[in-house]
Amino acid sequence: MSQLQLNPIRQLSASVINKIAAGEVIERPASVVKELLENSVDAGATRIELTIEQGGTELIRVTDNGSGIPQEQLPLAVTSHATSKIVDADDLFQVATMGFRGEALASIAEVSQTTIRTRTAVQDCGFEMLINGGHREPAQPCGCPQGTTIEVRQLFYNTPVRQKFMKTAQTERGHIIEAFTRIALAHPEIQMTCVNGSKTTYNLPAAEVWADRIGAFFGPEISSNLIALDNAHGEIRIRGFVVDPAVSRANNRMQYLFLNGRYIRDRSLQHALSEAYRGLLMTGRYPACFLTLEIPFELVDVNVHPAKLEVRFQNGGQIYSQLLSTVRDRFLSTDLTAHAQLSKKPVEPFRPFPLGTSGGPSMSPGPSSQGNQETIAFNNAAPAFDWTQAPRQPQLAGHGVAANGSTEIDGGFSNAGPGDQGVLNPYPETIGTGVAPSQTPTALQVHNTYLVSETPEGMIVIDQHALHERVIYEQIRGKVVDGKLESQRLLVPEPVSLPPAEAAAVLEQTELLEQLGISISPFGGGTVLVSSYPAMLNKQNPAEMLRSVVDQIVEGGKTLDQRDLVDELLHMISCKAAVKAGDRLSPEEITALLEHRELCQDAHHCPHGRPTSLVFSRDELDRRFKRI
Ligand code: ADP
Ligand code: MG
Repeated sequence: MSQLQLNPIRQLSASVINKIAAGEVIERPASVVKELLENSVDAGATRIELTIEQGGTELIRVTDNGSGIPQEQLPLAVTSHATSKIVDADDLFQVATMGFRGEALASIAEVSQTTIRTRTAVQDCGFEMLINGGHREPAQPCGCPQGTTIEVRQLFYNTPVRQKFMKTAQTERGHIIEAFTRIALAHPEIQMTCVNGSKTTYNLPAAEVWADRIGAFFGPEISSNLIALDNAHGEIRIRGFVVDPAVSRANNRMQYLFLNGRYIRDRSLQHALSEAYRGLLMTGRYPACFLTLEIPFELVDVNVHPAKLEVRFQNGGQIYSQLLSTVRDRFLSTDLTAHAQLSKKPVEPFRPFPLGTSGGPSMSPGPSSQGNQETIAFNNAAPAFDWTQAPRQPQLAGHGVAANGSTEIDGGFSNAGPGDQGVLNPYPETIGTGVAPSQTPTALQVHNTYLVSETPEGMIVIDQHALHERVIYEQIRGKVVDGKLESQRLLVPEPVSLPPAEAAAVLEQTELLEQLGISISPFGGGTVLVSSYPAMLNKQNPAEMLRSVVDQIVEGGKTLDQRDLVDELLHMISCKAAVKAGDRLSPEEITALLEHRELCQDAHHCPHGRPTSLVFSRDELDRRFKRI
């Protein structure tokens, strides 16, 4: 029997309970900033100012012009589980405000020296209350404008363990700016300022259009590449912007998702987004987006995470596919050709989502907005392609293509060898479609690298390698899906020796490689036998080909899932099979390539996400030559 004697069970003091709660809600200075800013938003403020010193460790002050707190309620505001935002448990599922746990102020006041100054519209004078490590002092009258100022000093001064965990002022400042950014993005209608020490970091006027606020944080690189979207399906509406794939990030932190006016992180939605960008971005690059989801409150539980950062959707699957298809459809209807940035046109107006309609906090006086969200917000000189239609007549080819406008032509560039006859030859018209070999080229090849051509709108410059790579990629991807990628069997299997770890890694993928037409088997030690490989790579030696495959597999490491790996390998194969910069092309080849461009789902980016072409509009040219 154990001799261990436990202490008697005791009710914890309110102060200890609050400190525990504080640990959950208030992790670092940025958490204080988030809670205070959210309270100001909930109070209907149209102007909010944040001031911090030393990364918020010395001081965090938030001043708003919101409703203020009535004098008699001041003590309650800092009592835990006291909130003006919900009354009973049912309300938990109907919350339109940011706060509702009634925990934040009590928690903050428990672990800092807090001052609240506040005045409501109906009071002649304001009141000030100090709370020192949870000890409240009686409220005193004071002069102050309508609204509330909450000042938090010496955060965690009485919880040394927490204090130890705080990082440098610079790191904490970074987190604070991020918290500020999220709220400022969610509430473009509120004028917001951020002052760091004596320096004003942000001074954001109330925005007319959401893109302006986005631009204020992320600059023209982002704001001139926004692609507006708006999709409502049943009770769920998704709108805002995705960012042109030409602009990507090394992490997913620029994916701003807002649910009913509140910033959220959601892995499933992030995944939907990367799916939508599949094939448009290089591996390791992430899309950026600014999207708001409006979902009836009863379909979401926002009360599963202390900081309400994660939520639980009742119909996550539907939201996932709605997001995926909305973004995909938008890309299909958008000309993603990288437009030469000769002039900086202002972004077309896009009204922020109307707050207080189906989603945003009802207290926020949002701008009345019904705006047309289908505006293409980036500098869009050429008309959008209608990707939903069947392939159209080639647009680039002014002449000489009528005879070979066939859609059956195929896209590889290897033109010898019995294995790929008529299969992956990109220039079948040179093999008996009756085109005169000396047809006028439909584009001018310059430096054996670029193709320049007239278009109805102006002029296009194409990177021949990038475009061909895209053409091949789309074709072989289709073939892999149908299980029809041609492979070439070697008469004598070729042994390739690899470092043992790499041999093991590649052999693990035997089945997957089979789908790509690559057959391998173990031969002992680090040696792998290659017995067949993609026909279109017949100019490569098998050992070299396998080494490239191994590179892809090893680089991808454990993080790549099978589909990503197939994708990587398809990229590699297309890259190797495509014409190179520096290859001289015949007029027929140029014509064929341009025709294939018309058939591509996304002719605008090579599989690595680089642009395949640049468009110069007639306007742009006229402007540059000072004709207009
Ligand atoms: P919650 O936001 O979850 O209700 P808090 O602890 O953050 O809990 O705030 C408690 C209460 O204090 C709020 O419900 C609100 O009534 C009041 N309050 C807090 N901050 C402000 C503010 N800036 N303006 C007006 N009222 C506020
Ligand atoms: Mg709150």
